[in-house]
Amino acid sequence: MINSTHDSTMNSWVGSANHPETDFPIQNLPYVYFDRSGADGDGGIGVLIGDAVLDLTRCREDGLFASEELGDVAWTLQKGAAVSNLFDLDQETLSAFRRRLVALLRDDCDEPTRKIVERNLISASDVRFDIPCEIGDYTDFYCSIFHATNVGTLFRPDNPLLPNYSWVPIGYHGRASSIVVSGTDVVRPRGQGRPDPEAPPVFGPSRRLDYEMEVGFYVGKGNDLGETIPIGNAEEHIFGLCLVNDWSARDVQGWEYQPLGPFLGKSFATSISPAVVTMEALAPFRVPAFERSEDQPGPLPYLSHDENEESGGIDIKLDVLISSQKMRNEGIGPHLVSRSNLKDLYWTIGQMLTHHASNGCNLQTGDLIATGTVSGKDKSERGCLLEMTFGGKEPIELPSGEERKFLEDFDEVILRGFCKRDGFRRIGFGECRGVVLPAK
Ligand code: MN
Repeated sequence: MINSTHDSTMNSWVGSANHPETDFPIQNLPYVYFDRSGADGDGGIGVLIGDAVLDLTRCREDGLFASEELGDVAWTLQKGAAVSNLFDLDQETLSAFRRRLVALLRDDCDEPTRKIVERNLISASDVRFDIPCEIGDYTDFYCSIFHATNVGTLFRPDNPLLPNYSWVPIGYHGRASSIVVSGTDVVRPRGQGRPDPEAPPVFGPSRRLDYEMEVGFYVGKGNDLGETIPIGNAEEHIFGLCLVNDWSARDVQGWEYQPLGPFLGKSFATSISPAVVTMEALAPFRVPAFERSEDQPGPLPYLSHDENEESGGIDIKLDVLISSQKMRNEGIGPHLVSRSNLKDLYWTIGQMLTHHASNGCNLQTGDLIATGTVSGKDKSERGCLLEMTFGGKEPIELPSGEERKFLEDFDEVILRGFCKRDGFRRIGFGECRGVVLPAK
């Protein structure tokens, strides 16, 4: 899977793409949906390169994608088309398209072609990003054993990890309609909780609002109802990844979650980063699946596959930062709260997808599947405040001198993700941000 498009010596004529710390070097090329500012509806599919967006619809109009090798690509890039138009193209065509984009953006691109490409390049600060496509269904898993153990300890001290955990990837059906793009404000939800178990429940603004650092993946090719997806083919159905903040009202969740799982404690908002980083861009960062301890069973045969064992994991560093109103007023930058890694998930994204379809459930192009909170072994690797503060018992301190048990109004949560490996260019996911607004 590693090929010439991952060559770390390759540079772009777009200067900002060659900065060693950029999320978007020529080796990444994630897809986005964008609108040109002030001209709603004048946008479509773009690709991020350094600090700029390349308008793929206009490139198509300029005839840059009219080769036989690119098959249906040009057709998918109509004005206003969603990024999901690309999701179910076959891998060969997508790889050819990636090679073509690299050729157009490389520093050895011929002058006349470069001139055409250049006029379709817009500064990323001049556009508004949207979610990449209409998301039909959204599922959230619970695949970090560290998160599940920490949270389980708080909710059920005597019985933290339920016996099904090591056998079945646990998940729930989320709410697709309340998925919002990074930068959208999140209104503190109202809900029912029972803070005092001796008193009746109460209804009001959540007092235990939390974030969850997660990664999501988009379904590429779907499966028909009644059909399944063998584990060996799982990744052929995954188009790419994004960052996800699964905002959670812990007081609501703790009261409502038994026996059917999360409901209103989660469905008020889920934020995603706009960039879709392709599986091909991530090829250099593949690692073995999570190494299970001796007392943990191996997966059942339908979730087992050599390739999944050898390279089903992905090494993605995941940062959570918080910025309070006071910090912003005092000119203090966002504070790093945790850094975890996707490679520490107990189940791989391939196993999640295969398990999801294993009953014949039809996954559809553009569905979003998230991993669940990504936490690691150490305290600095806990991907939500519930874990980080032991259910609010041990507040964290912000550089402004403030304390946080859970999120306060006007706090901004910023998620970042990036991949680094010797011999390859660093690639990143951009950001997933959201400010908490007071309850209505
Ligand atoms: Mn979650």
